[in-house]
Amino acid sequence: MRAVAVFPKVREVRVINLPEPPPVTGSHVLLKVLEVGICGTDREIGAFEYGAPPPGSDHLILGHEALAEVVATGPDVTWVRKGDLVVPTVRRPCPQARCRPCRAERQDFCVTGEFWERGIKEAHGFLQEWTVEEEAHLVAVPRKLADVAVLTEPLSVAAKAAEQAQALQGRLPWERAHVRALALGAGPVGLLGAMSMVVNHFDTFVYSLEPAASERAELVRSFGATYLSGQDVPLGELRQKVGTFDIIYEAVGVSKVAFAAVDALGANGLFIFTGIPAHGSPSPVDTDTLMRNIVLRNQLLLGTVNASRSAYELALRELEQAMFLFPRSVRALITHRVPIEAAPALITGHGGVKQVIALSSAGTP
Ligand SMILES: [Zn+2]
Ligand SMILES: [Zn+2]
Repeated sequence: MRAVAVFPKVREVRVINLPEPPPVTGSHVLLKVLEVGICGTDREIGAFEYGAPPPGSDHLILGHEALAEVVATGPDVTWVRKGDLVVPTVRRPCPQARCRPCRAERQDFCVTGEFWERGIKEAHGFLQEWTVEEEAHLVAVPRKLADVAVLTEPLSVAAKAAEQAQALQGRLPWERAHVRALALGAGPVGLLGAMSMVVNHFDTFVYSLEPAASERAELVRSFGATYLSGQDVPLGELRQKVGTFDIIYEAVGVSKVAFAAVDALGANGLFIFTGIPAHGSPSPVDTDTLMRNIVLRNQLLLGTVNASRSAYELALRELEQAMFLFPRSVRALITHRVPIEAAPALITGHGGVKQVIALSSAGTP
């Protein structure tokens, strides 16, 4: 079978051939991988900036945003059935007894950093024709979502943020009416975050650099959000020209931009960081103003990474609602579907919103 792997030592990304997986045992499930989404993380791994092969291996099989079909189940598997569509989660718990999050199956909050992640950190990913996974790490997908369920993993980041926002803003002792929410950035994470906000009935805005007449802006408007172009409104004027926001969901990964946007956070607001900036030269931040505002406005600044099983389940419910409300917009997020041979070029290149590697179609042997 074929797979796509990165070889950090020789700096190569290529299609490799592997033996078929052996028959499954215990609570293992054999999966036929249907589709794998590609994101900035894959590109960083493909540029040898990030990621780690499993111990003892000279390569890492890529892919963490997968949709798969169950082909065979081990004797101890309880709920998964042959033919089911599933999305596997990415992060696996660390082995440390003292890590309470991992022992509570909340490895998205792991405190030791010794977790591993399929396709990213010390474990092979899903960008292979067949893969084996523990039943416990699979989330069932309704068949009617088959053509968009590859978006579940990137949407789970927004879903975890939504769960956290719900818990944190429960601090406000009144029902919040007309929540104004801003997604900062119109890449896949920003757009999926904005869709999640729309589904949650927030008055949703997306801020990005593309002009108001661009395809991205059109896509934003197509699902009922308001597009704000950086070419029309500089970040520093957002508060004055557009007003403040109760929630800002950062999805640009550029610290200068993110901290400039904190100014548009309203009283009792929540700012959620999801991007991981590259280390650059230090840039000045007016920490006096920042701290004054955080205190005087009762603001929360929160970082979030990865997602729990419950966030994947929430992501699938949100995806289902989004497909009911604006199916064409959801489908439009997937801008490319290419065969496995084209994966290395795609991973080392750029362009489009969400690129997907199509490995197989459902229901064919
Ligand atoms: Zn990703
Ligand atoms: Zn842990």
